[in-house]
Amino acid sequence: MSPLPPGAILGILGGGQLGRYMALVAQQRGYRVAVLDPQEDAPAHQVAHHRIVAAYDDPQALDRLAGICHAVTFEFENVPARSLEPFQKAGVRIHPGARALAICQDRIQEKTTVNACGIETARWAPIRAQADLAQALGKFGGTGILKTARSGYDGKGQAKVDGFADAMDAWKGMNGVDCVLEEIVPFAMECSVLAARDVEGNCFTHPVCENMHSRHILDVTVSPARVRESAARAMRSRTARIAQELDYVGHLAVEFFVLPDGEVLVNEIAPRPHNSGHLTIDTAMASQFEEHVRCVTGWPVLPYDLNVQAAAMANLLGDAWEGGEPRWERLAEFPEVRLHLYGKAQARPGRKMGHITGWATSADEAERLVRAAREAIRP
Ligand code: AMP
Repeated sequence: MSPLPPGAILGILGGGQLGRYMALVAQQRGYRVAVLDPQEDAPAHQVAHHRIVAAYDDPQALDRLAGICHAVTFEFENVPARSLEPFQKAGVRIHPGARALAICQDRIQEKTTVNACGIETARWAPIRAQADLAQALGKFGGTGILKTARSGYDGKGQAKVDGFADAMDAWKGMNGVDCVLEEIVPFAMECSVLAARDVEGNCFTHPVCENMHSRHILDVTVSPARVRESAARAMRSRTARIAQELDYVGHLAVEFFVLPDGEVLVNEIAPRPHNSGHLTIDTAMASQFEEHVRCVTGWPVLPYDLNVQAAAMANLLGDAWEGGEPRWERLAEFPEVRLHLYGKAQARPGRKMGHITGWATSADEAERLVRAAREAIRP
């Protein structure tokens, strides 16, 4: 399939910060961009040529988008499968494809697919009935993490459970929807691998990112991760294997747990650019968004590592505005950091408003730098 020519229209379902960066990159490469998102002032609507303000399952809006775009992609994995039908009918290129999306939006299918490739996850069991929960808890020593099979993110739709009564309460609180129960993993580190795969099946994986969370939300990412070479190799090769299995086209991220002995387990797959990949915007020849747009518009993947020895990213959540506007001018004291803001008007606690990236000669130093810069702008 030949690449889309400049002037063609890329459709993006979802208008948050990921969609915004995709749109900006696509425009730099000569494409026009059409965004569908229910929020009028969504970050990607602010930069799109065509704005469709509608729900993701609004048939007329989807027909309109399918009628104007030549390729369509997504910034989040919870797009209803039926929303793809108008694009299929109109012969629009859909990347990543419907199968990859269906697998990644359901933890039961996702873990089944990963395990079927011979790749380990935390031990888990599907929960569809009370008896499943009792049996799984028995297997995992009475505790675990209960996660809704669909629609969870940033720790939402999941609960640590201890004992049957507690687990039943948690499950009822999730309205008894299909879930998975996972064994609690005593991980030493959380990592992600960013990868891009093109229509010809060429796949490039980035050096591993090391991710630190706070209140279940990504807080700081450092690359390269401070892990053994053998663990890094295993994570990169498993990510490439998963991308191949999904016949994936575009950018994806696979999240891993690294155990104290260096073994690695897949946590989950994000079928899109990922928060941990934001450091590639300033520090790689091709950012994760550039790679995504290239692949979904039919261009070959670019096999480039970071341009710097080490990079780090610190998220700016709405909490940073609690004491007033952050003191942006203080960033002038940090020439090796860059500020990114997503154009969101309202700063709510936990809302991703922007991030800071920084680079240095070592991972330790890059981490120290972005943390110091974030601290310095505290109002
Ligand atoms: P998830 O939405 O599945 O990425 O989970 C959010 C966070 O919860 C992860 O980044 C981990 O910090 C923690 N977590 C999830 N699953 C497990 C597990 N099986 N064992 C220990 N911690 C977990």
